[in-house]
Amino acid sequence: MEQNTLLTIIKDKIASEGSLSISDYMELCLAHPEYGYYTTRDPLGATGDFTTSPEISQIFGELIGLWCAAVWQQMGSEACGLVELGPGRGTLMADALRASKSLPEFHASLTVHMVETSPKLANTQYHNVRDMHPHIEWLDTVEQLPKKPLIIIANEFFDALPIKQFVKTENGMQERKVTWNETNAQLEYCIQPAGLSLAKGDDGLQEGQIIESAPLARSIMHILATHLATYGGAALVIDYGYSGVPHGDTLQAVKSHGFASILGNPGEADLTAHVDFSSLMEVAKEQKLNTYGTITQGEFLRKLGAEIRAQLLIRHANEEQQNVILSGLHRLMAPEQMGELFKVIAITSGSHIMPAGF
Ligand code: SAH
Repeated sequence: MEQNTLLTIIKDKIASEGSLSISDYMELCLAHPEYGYYTTRDPLGATGDFTTSPEISQIFGELIGLWCAAVWQQMGSEACGLVELGPGRGTLMADALRASKSLPEFHASLTVHMVETSPKLANTQYHNVRDMHPHIEWLDTVEQLPKKPLIIIANEFFDALPIKQFVKTENGMQERKVTWNETNAQLEYCIQPAGLSLAKGDDGLQEGQIIESAPLARSIMHILATHLATYGGAALVIDYGYSGVPHGDTLQAVKSHGFASILGNPGEADLTAHVDFSSLMEVAKEQKLNTYGTITQGEFLRKLGAEIRAQLLIRHANEEQQNVILSGLHRLMAPEQMGELFKVIAITSGSHIMPAGF
């Protein structure tokens, strides 16, 4: 069975290295080239493990498409690349391109770049977007992005990147890692000296308190920020997360739309962590970029006119469709649903770009 194969690979690695950092564990579980979670399946939608905003309502991708078109105009209507990081099924990009089709000059100025590691999802994306634009390409990493101005979209991308955890102990900050318990025959956490990899200080932390760092998220943001600083453009990042004070242990496993064991299902559950938006904005500011937010997803969508768009759609819908439109919008915007936990930031290369919604 695939799960056992991945568990064996993890156990072998632990046997040779003593323990695995949580980031190495996440990387193996999510992205192992043969048995990783994203490599082996399409996790999205009702029959999958979780649902994302573009899968809930077309309004989400449509409004983002119009957001991109407005940014493009402020950038001087020049030739640019439209980039999506981790596009899932390609639904957001398909809705964004459909909604912005009414601006043919925008489409004519664009090349579209989908950054995706999972061949399975890239294939699904291809089928969903191939008719929406003549120039769409797939890239494995952000390093391959074209050297020109870019408009970058990332929805629920950064939460899927591996994190490290550190815990305050009586011996200072130590790293929380994963090891194998032979007696109980299961994976478990252990604490090891943190070495020099500690990203944040331990000022004011109580014993037992956990903090997280996201080295891959920061290095991807660094590449994007350097790119925007050099060639110009903007980025829009939407995800669940926090800004400011570290939030302790936010690592979670999700399977069949519910929480699952983090160590009990390697490769069989989605593993994510809340996004530290202030850390991402810090990286952007180091490159002298402008940052906007964080604001909540509910507020962002309201300012972009989500309710007005829903009213327009409702006019041409039957009763059943009307209910779907309204309940989708409620899920995206209501504070107790995705409206408040999900946050939005924008990053721009200069004050000539005033991103809508902030
Ligand atoms: N943005 C989509 C999907 C979110 S799921 C939506 O809103 O529906 C996370 C996506 O990120 C998946 O497509 C996954 O394959 C991709 N992904 C995860 N790690 C990645 C990485 N390091 N580089 C590129 N894509 C990655």
